[in-house]
Amino acid sequence: MRVLIAGAGLAGLSCAKYLIDAGYTPIILERRDVLGGKVAAWKDKDGDWYETGLHIFFGAYPNVLQLFKELNIETRLQWKKHTMIFNQPNAPGTYSQFNFPDLPAPFNGIAAILRNNDMLTWSEKIRFGIGLLPAMIQGQKYVEAMDKYSWSEWMRKQNIPSRVEKEVFIAMSKALNFIRPEEISSTILLTALNRFLQEKNGSKMAFLDGSPTERMCQPIADYITKHGGEIRLNSSLKEILLTPDGIVEGFLVRGLSGKPDYVENADLYVSAMPVDPLKVLLPKSWQQQDFFQRLNGLKGVPVINVHLWFDRKLTDIDHLLFSRSPLLSVYADMSNTCREYSNRDCSMLELVLAPAKDWISKSDECIVQAVLAELEKLFPQHLTGNNKVKLLKYHLVKTPLSVYKAIPGCQECRPSQETPISNFYLAGDYTMQRYLASMEGAVLSGKLTAGAITKAHSEVNSSNL
Ligand SMILES: Cc1cc2nc3c(=O)[nH]c(=O)nc-3n(C[C@H](O)[C@H](O)[C@H](O)COP(=O)(O)OP(=O)(O)OC[C@H]3O[C@@H](n4cnc5c(N)ncnc54)[C@H](O)[C@@H]3O)c2cc1C
Repeated sequence: MRVLIAGAGLAGLSCAKYLIDAGYTPIILERRDVLGGKVAAWKDKDGDWYETGLHIFFGAYPNVLQLFKELNIETRLQWKKHTMIFNQPNAPGTYSQFNFPDLPAPFNGIAAILRNNDMLTWSEKIRFGIGLLPAMIQGQKYVEAMDKYSWSEWMRKQNIPSRVEKEVFIAMSKALNFIRPEEISSTILLTALNRFLQEKNGSKMAFLDGSPTERMCQPIADYITKHGGEIRLNSSLKEILLTPDGIVEGFLVRGLSGKPDYVENADLYVSAMPVDPLKVLLPKSWQQQDFFQRLNGLKGVPVINVHLWFDRKLTDIDHLLFSRSPLLSVYADMSNTCREYSNRDCSMLELVLAPAKDWISKSDECIVQAVLAELEKLFPQHLTGNNKVKLLKYHLVKTPLSVYKAIPGCQECRPSQETPISNFYLAGDYTMQRYLASMEGAVLSGKLTAGAITKAHSEVNSSNL
């Protein structure tokens, strides 16, 4: 059976991989000339990589880890020390760490929090712990029910001092969804905390050893093509064509360089596009259906990934850092954290700028100036005074509509991978799965889609016997 998939992000690639394993023939149509969607990366004229986003893998990513194992590329994940490092705005250039000792969960997480005295007082830690009790006792059901509150509202409801939000959770919200605690659904933070506290290595972090396009997407693509599947770059889905019964008849693909559009047919169809382009392409007769109408509650959030190359080393920290800066979210010196980007003499900082709503339409020069001004607080010893480091070059990747903005009420809008249309399925980090908008969520969604297809089809087969 041929399955046509629109989108070669991690969801589309994972869906195709697991369809191959189940004996199907997937054909992926990708709009751009590069694999990976939100993990895509490019090489500049000097041979240096720049990426759509600074990407971190967590111990709590079972499906990504399983996929790496199946492709025999596990050694490409460079695991870092089990710690979380925060900049200290009140003492520029210094750090505060949450170190996770080698104890079973949740004791390692509790010990990490209790032993950090830079950021929270004992009374704040105790009140936060008490506030978290319902989530720990009632589990996922409670976490889902809290989707009606923003994180700030939930913290107030649980009587947790506002300083806890300021010290820890502005940084966490920005890292998880590129927005602030007043906006983010409390389900997002509670889900992450649950994973981090319930699994011993849940919050342990890894960096890929090179560019995600080459080191992660290409092996998935090779597996797909080696086993009879196909991936066509520069192939944009232009229209979903319907039969008179309202199911999919074919995908109309945009012709390039003056070539005419063409129709591609298959037995089954999958959208692995992000939710924003999918909404634009929904056929009129589907738009009235409640299932598709709920997609209107989901919209991508803007974010900017900034890369700065310097003439000297700024730090030797080999880890992710939470900047706790108003302009920036997380960052890392990729010359330390990533084997292929390694440089013993010069730093390459990759920084996520979020929230990016007010910056996304500004010029690259203007954004870089603002980032450099922020860096004076993070690296005062290198960016102020007479012996300042020199910025050699920069690259910015702006994503105006990235992962769905996880505001209160969104969980209800997230669709299942099966749709009311019998030959049309959805994959993508925004579809319903327990890992939210992440690489793990995208990979799991693709796997769930392949599973739903296999299940529906084997049922059709057995009922035909
Ligand atoms: C700055 C940034 C930092 C991030 N950091 C992390 C992190 O540290 N850890 C983590 O787990 N996750 C992180 N994420 C999230 C993660 O990248 C995404 O959740 C995941 O990659 C989404 O995969 P996807 O396949 O669902 O969607 P996408 O990657 O968006 O893939 C969709 C694909 O569909 C294609 N497409 C669109 N329209 C059409 C069309 N008409 N025809 C054909 N193809 C089309 C697109 O070109 C794209 O390739 C980050 C994201 C960003 C932007």
